[in-house]
This record gives sequence, structure tokens and C-alpha cells, in this order.
Amino acid sequence: MIRIGVVGCAGRMGRIVAGEVLGAADLTLNGGTERAGSDAVGRDLGELLGRGRLGIAVGDDGRQLFAGADVVIDFTAPAAVVEHARLAAESHTAYVVGTTGLKAEQEATLRQAATTAAIVWAPNMSIGVNLLMSLVERVAAVLDPAGYDVEIVEMHHRHKVDAPSGTALGLGRAVAAGRGVALEDVWQKTRDGIIGARRAGDIGFATLRGGDVVGDHSVIFAADGERLELVHKASSRQVFAKGALRAVRWIVGRPPGLYSMHDVLGI
Ligand code: NAD
Repeated sequence: MIRIGVVGCAGRMGRIVAGEVLGAADLTLNGGTERAGSDAVGRDLGELLGRGRLGIAVGDDGRQLFAGADVVIDFTAPAAVVEHARLAAESHTAYVVGTTGLKAEQEATLRQAATTAAIVWAPNMSIGVNLLMSLVERVAAVLDPAGYDVEIVEMHHRHKVDAPSGTALGLGRAVAAGRGVALEDVWQKTRDGIIGARRAGDIGFATLRGGDVVGDHSVIFAADGERLELVHKASSRQVFAKGALRAVRWIVGRPPGLYSMHDVLGI
């Protein structure tokens, strides 16, 4: 049995992931934490998930959770990832991170932690999106940047706090890799007012927010006379949780390092 800890267990993703762990024969839910002061702290974890009493109280002590788990799953917030990455490094606990919106210095903490702990970090854990990323990279490598303008459009539910989505940025990175450039040199994340004509080679982003949309992403290659669009639509958060559990089973016993879903899926 693989012992699992879920940080942010009362969040939208945390609840689904913890529920999937409870339903898996080879995994055991060892505990869950929430941010200090959350109403969920002290409640029975099973009851929080609507699964009946488990006899495990939701905690707010990350250190204790990491110490008792083989793998900790994190769908929380960037500041919490910094704190959790340090705990993973300290306890040598494998760590699966789906949280997005990390700033460069927060990413650096994760990279540092990966020198002593095995970490999978993926802005999108769904199999479909990870396949889309490799397809996009291949298409971008074939199409001439001077003739094909790339625009990435994403839509998410009204509660999402970061923009563009981590997945949209990941898709941008895939286009940039296919073209042999750095995304930061060519991205156009916002447009407003008289900003002039589009620069050849730029990678544009457009962000839509509303309703309960789980996650839609389109990568558009627009040329004179034709347009190629690659699209992924997630209709349930369950796909991310299933991907996270795939990462959990893959990471057990791996040496320290920062891995992606591409490593997990072998693509
Ligand atoms: P949410 O706000 O519903 O849940 C986050 C939870 O984390 C909250 O309950 C919050 O109280 C808790 N939390 C914050 N700080 C904490 C701490 N220090 N310790 C313990 N718990 C803490 O958000 P969500 O919709 O579940 O999304 C969470 C993150 O996952 C976001 O960054 C989102 O973009 C990302 N996400 C990633 C994927 C993926 O496939 N990688 C899929 C969906 C969402």
C-alpha cells in the first residue's frame, strides 16, 4: 500500500483527489491538511469528503503529514507550494504538484527541493492535454513562424485566480520549444489599446473566465489562406485527479529529480 497525504484536502481538486485515493485498492489515505484557520481543520476527513467517518482529523501541520506519507499530492496555491517543497526535501517524501501560477522564484524552490526529493510537477495532469503539448511542439517545428501566427486561447471557471492558465503557458512553451526560441522572448500575454500590428514570431495568449468551465484550450496556427486549430476540452476535474494518481504510482521509488507528466506517461 502506498501511503498518501493530500494538502489542501478541502479545495475543489483536493476533495476529488482524496476521494479517488479512498477508492483505490493500492493506496491508503494517510491524512489531509488545510491552511491554518480553515473551517475544515479538525473535521473528520471522511466526513469532509462525504464518505462517512474515517477517524482521521483534517490537520494544519504539513510537517507531520509529509513525515507519515510515501507521496504527498498538492493542488493548493503557489505560496503553499514553497512551504511544502521544503518539507518534501527535508523528509525525502515524493511530491506530486498540480498547483499553477508559480512565480520564477517559487519555481526555483521546487527545483531546489527536487535535488533531494522526487517531484512531479505538471500544470495539467490530464492525459489529453499532455498529448496535445507534444503534438503542438511537433506542429510548431514544421510550420514557418514567419507565415504562421500562433495564438493560444483558454477558458476557465470564474474562480480561477491565475492568468493565463498554467496549461496555456505550458502550451506556449511547447510552441517555443518546437521553434527553438524562449517563450519569454516572444510571448504577448495581454493586448489593450493601439498597440500596433502583430510581430511575426510572437506567441499570443487570450484568457476567458466564466461559469463552471473546467478547462478549454485551443492552439491556433493562423496563416494566409488557412488555419490549423488544436483543441482540448476538459469536462470533469476527475481527469486531473486520475492523472495525479498515475503520477503517484509512477514516482514511488524514483530517485530525486523534477519530473513532468511527459516522463510519467512516457511521451
Ligand atoms: P481551491 O482554491 O478550490 O483549493 C485550494 C485549497 O488549498 C484550498 O482549500 C486552500 O484552503 C488550500 N490551501 C491553501 N494554502 C494551504 C496550505 N498552506 N496548506 C494546506 N492547504 C492550503 O483551488 P483548486 O481549484 O482546487 O485549484 C488548486 C490549484 O490547482 C490551482 O493552482 C489550480 O490552477 C490547480 N489545478 C491544476 C490542475 C492540474 O491538472 N495540474 C487541475 C486543476 C487545478
